[in-house]
Amino acid sequence: MMPAPRPGIARMTGLVGWPVEHSVSPAMHNAAYAAVGLDWCYLPFPVPPERLAEAIARVRALGMAGVNVTVPHKQAVLSLMDELSPAAAAIGAVNTVIVADGRLVGHNTDAAGFLRALREAGCEPTGLPTLVLGAGGAARAVVYALLGVGADVTVLNRTPQRAEALVHVLAAAGVGMLRAAPLDVATLRALAPRARLVVNATSVGMWRVEAGASAATPWPDAVPFPSGAMAYDLVYNPQETAFMRRARAAGARAVGGLGMLVYQGAEAFERWTGVAAPVDVMARACRSALAGG
Ligand code: NAP
Repeated sequence: MMPAPRPGIARMTGLVGWPVEHSVSPAMHNAAYAAVGLDWCYLPFPVPPERLAEAIARVRALGMAGVNVTVPHKQAVLSLMDELSPAAAAIGAVNTVIVADGRLVGHNTDAAGFLRALREAGCEPTGLPTLVLGAGGAARAVVYALLGVGADVTVLNRTPQRAEALVHVLAAAGVGMLRAAPLDVATLRALAPRARLVVNATSVGMWRVEAGASAATPWPDAVPFPSGAMAYDLVYNPQETAFMRRARAAGARAVGGLGMLVYQGAEAFERWTGVAAPVDVMARACRSALAGG
C-alpha cells in the first residue's frame, strides 16, 4: 500500500509514448488531481524508441511518482523495470510504472480496467463464449483478464500466427479456456452463432491523424453479428465506432472503450497517489478532450 500523499507536495507524473500529442490522459489525470486537491501534474513525454532507457532513468532520477507507458514502448519498457506485477509479467507489457523507494515497479492496469468497464456495462464474462478480435498488446491484456474469471475465449487475428503466439503465452494464465483462430469470414461464420461476447481489440475503426475518422470495422459484412451477444470495442476515439453500429443494427448491445480508458487510468492514479480516483471527473475530462474541448 502506498503512503497517503502529503497535501501541498507537488509530484510529477506523465505519459511516455511516441507520439503522445493526441492522448487524452493528461486531461484525465490533471482533472483528477485537481478534483481531489493534489498539487500534482501529468505531462505528455514524446520519447522515440532509441531514447526510452534514458527517459525511464530520468523518471527514477527526478523522483517522479511514476509514468504511464504507451505505444510503442509497452513491451520494451519491461526489461527496464526492477520488478513486475504478476499481470505485467504474464501479459508481457507494462502500461504503468510506479517509483517506490527508488525502485521501478511495472504494472499493467489495462486488464483490470477492461474487466471493470465490462462489468459496469452489465456483462459478467465468467463462462461466456467470447471472441476476441486482435492479438496485439491490448488483446493480451483483455485475454488475461477474461481467462482470470473463467471465460471461454477464442482469439482471432488477421495474422493467425500472432493469435497462436498469444495462446502459447497466456494459456496457463487463468482458469478459462483459450484457443486461436484466423480472423476470416469462414471462421467467424462458424463461431459467431455461439458467441455471447465479442471484443474488438484490433486498431480497426480508430481515428487516425493522417486519415481522420474511420468507418472501418473488423467484423466482415458477410457474417451476421450475433444478436444475443455483447459487443465491446476497445477503440474510444471515435466514441461511437462502425463496429458498435454494426452490432446494434443486429440487435446486440454495444459499448465503446472509454470505460476501459478511465478505469486503467483510475488504477494508475490510485497506485501513484493512494487516493480513491474520482472516476466521474476522469470520464468527463476524457469526453471533453475527445470532443476537442
Ligand atoms: P497493436 O499491438 O498494434 O495491435 C493491433 C491489432 O490490430 C493486431 O491484432 C492487428 O492484426 C490488428 N489489425 C490492425 N489492422 C487490421 C486490419 N486492417 N484488419 C484486421 N486486423 C487489423 O495495438 P494495441 O496496442 O493492441 O491496440 C489495439 C486497439 O486497442 C487500439 O485501437 C487502441 O487504441 C485500443 N486500446 C484501447 C485501450 C482502452 O483503454 N480503451 C487500451 C489499450 C488499447 P495483425 O497482428 O494481423 O497486424
